[in-house]
Amino acid sequence: MVIVLKQIATEKNIKALISELQARGLSTNYSEGTSQTVLGIIGDTTKIDADDLQRLSSVESVKRISEPYKTVNRKMHPDDSIIKINDNVKIGEGFFNVIAGPCSVESEDQIIEVAQRVKKAGATLLRGGAFKPRTSPYAFQGLEAEGLDLLLKAKKATGLPIVTEIMNLIHLDLFADVDVIQVGARNMQNFDLLKVLGKCDKPILLKRGLANTFEEWLMSAEYIMAGGNHNVILCERGIRTFETFTRNTLDISAVPVLKKLTHLPIIVDPSHATGMRWLVEPLAKTAVAVGADGLMIEVHNDPSKALCDGAQSLDPDQFDVLMSDVKRRVQFEGKIL
Ligand code: PEP
Ligand code: MN
Repeated sequence: MVIVLKQIATEKNIKALISELQARGLSTNYSEGTSQTVLGIIGDTTKIDADDLQRLSSVESVKRISEPYKTVNRKMHPDDSIIKINDNVKIGEGFFNVIAGPCSVESEDQIIEVAQRVKKAGATLLRGGAFKPRTSPYAFQGLEAEGLDLLLKAKKATGLPIVTEIMNLIHLDLFADVDVIQVGARNMQNFDLLKVLGKCDKPILLKRGLANTFEEWLMSAEYIMAGGNHNVILCERGIRTFETFTRNTLDISAVPVLKKLTHLPIIVDPSHATGMRWLVEPLAKTAVAVGADGLMIEVHNDPSKALCDGAQSLDPDQFDVLMSDVKRRVQFEGKIL
């Protein structure tokens, strides 16, 4: 349920309303937007009489939210959310970010070289997998804890905040200095993982599952937000369809659809969406044009020798070319990169 407050509502009245709702066992979400101030009510609102609320002097209107996702719903928070990654990096509402780096961290030289090159090209965050979800148990599984240490070295060397995937909660303590924790496509509905990440205060990059609907995806974001962590960034990375030419099918409509349904930032990963290097640039441009808040791009210093996802990785020179074009387009959209 959402209460739209009147412009003239006083702080005293709003506080009294919040206390009253809390006394009834409900939680509230206050959001002061540019055009509207709303008070979202979360919990079992079936016993709340909307007409009673409507009669209060500080209340403009009362609406029930029919969608199952509440806190992520744009009706609860009409303005775009801006997620702060550290003191310098913001994502959402005009702040565009490019997350770049290899699929997997492979060695100190590799990650530092890639980090320096992507930073120079204009990337704002460094990615790199330490714990890798691989289809085959015989494939490279990532350097695990050592991979995280190497990412931290690359962060120290370049100042770039780091994004890396968690697969198992037993590793959470190792992520203490990680800036953004990624939940990969295969774990989008690992609800135990989402619940625990909802209790931490780090930004979470939630990738869309291989075959999940927008509603399922938003419900997974709701799990994180319901725990109190409102720092969620969504990432469209392609879905399974009947098409086998590309690794996945990039559902570019995810960007405008989610912009309508939620206030959370949404970024696009054209690398995993296509599986092919030559498709990364055209789809990255498309993502900017449809209003994405950022990109995630795989970049490897020597893609032909990559231990994972070499075919979709750009080399640093190719990333330079992509970035000069992306920067122009982001600027054209009136956003800041
Ligand atoms: C990744 O980003 O390295 C990854 C494994 O992506 P996804 O979960 O989208 O497959
Ligand atoms: Mn990959």
